[in-house]
Amino acid sequence: MDSQDYIILEGIYGAHNYLPLDVVITKARGIWMWDIEGKKYLDFLSAYSAVNQGHCHPRIVKVLQNQARKLTLTSRAFRNDQWPLLAKELCELTGFNMVLPMNSGAEAVETAIKLARKWAYQKKGIPQDEAEIIACTNNFHGRTVTIISFSTDPLYRQDFGPFTPGFKIIPFGDIAALEAAITPRTAAFLVEPIQAEAGILIPPDGFLNKAKEICQKNNVLFVADEIQTGLGRVGKMFACDYEGVKPDIMVIGKSLGGGCYAVSAVLSTGEIMGLFKPGEHGSTFGGNPLACAVARESLRVIQDEKLVENAFEKGSYFLEKLRTIKSKHIKEIRGRGLLIGLELYPEAGGARRFCEELMKEGLLCKETHENVIRFAPPLIINKKDLDWAYKKIKRVFKKLN
Ligand SMILES: *Cc1c(COP(=O)(O)O)cnc(C)c1O
Repeated sequence: MDSQDYIILEGIYGAHNYLPLDVVITKARGIWMWDIEGKKYLDFLSAYSAVNQGHCHPRIVKVLQNQARKLTLTSRAFRNDQWPLLAKELCELTGFNMVLPMNSGAEAVETAIKLARKWAYQKKGIPQDEAEIIACTNNFHGRTVTIISFSTDPLYRQDFGPFTPGFKIIPFGDIAALEAAITPRTAAFLVEPIQAEAGILIPPDGFLNKAKEICQKNNVLFVADEIQTGLGRVGKMFACDYEGVKPDIMVIGKSLGGGCYAVSAVLSTGEIMGLFKPGEHGSTFGGNPLACAVARESLRVIQDEKLVENAFEKGSYFLEKLRTIKSKHIKEIRGRGLLIGLELYPEAGGARRFCEELMKEGLLCKETHENVIRFAPPLIINKKDLDWAYKKIKRVFKKLN
């Protein structure tokens, strides 16, 4: 079978809920991927930042294999010898003191919403069923019905109602709007410290800090979704670290599983997380020993290989380099660490055609919304390979001028 055969099969039998580039990957290692025909590509997306450690990291794969032979699933009906260690290590790494394990990012966000509501009723004294959560325009927190209930993207919502009530929207980055939106019924403010899916939107300096301050003043929980920005992607361990902000609840996922397994987690204080009592929330696969062993090694790799520092250093290097590209199509280049967005003018004909051309050149990246190309290679990348990518990008902008 060649690539075309796989593309046809997928089109016939697979639901069409994505529009992938027409490249069929069969193996990957580190920053590189190979298609069915043996063509080599540099991965400049990292599975939406779920492979920060690089593809098939030998240490993570080894742990996965060993744990798979030993014990994979107990459910939380019984205990296992990996979950307590992951819980401890995660808390030590993040400075939180309690953690709840889930699988996907969306599940972890759902968990955070349930937790914030429980806190609102039990601690803040909001009347039952009246708690409100404030979210931001252009947010992306996942795809469940409750989460899309506060999406502002019609594409995510159309035909999926009725929606979950209890959410309010403010413009991302707007402190005055946050302050105005808070009422005695506000439980939490849910925010991505950098909006990645929306096109790598960075809030104004000081926004996170002021938002946290306002939340504190009004007895409102500050909930950070660091699923994509966390674990080194933006050049700090967490995007909130840029402003020294410690959320009341933090959600992580994606590269917590090292690209090998779906693992997510919700972190908080003992006072807040302690509100969950047995039976009130759970997941069959959440905290399974295979996931936990993989997550533990994934975290160790981030630390041992200094991926946070590398993302910071290589990110600034690459951002500067990208800014030397002259093209009438480029509106703005912005980013933190190795999460970089290149925004095109609407007249450029859409980011998609640039991504398709980059693919031909051996660089795999993806448009996010119409006009932004996201550059997000695995955090293990070195200068030489970034220089190679730069040449390809420069060439494509020359070609599509
Ligand atoms: C990817 C992502 C999610 C959803 O994670 P899934 O694992 O796809 O459910 C939520 N929030 C942010 C910021 C994300 O980038």
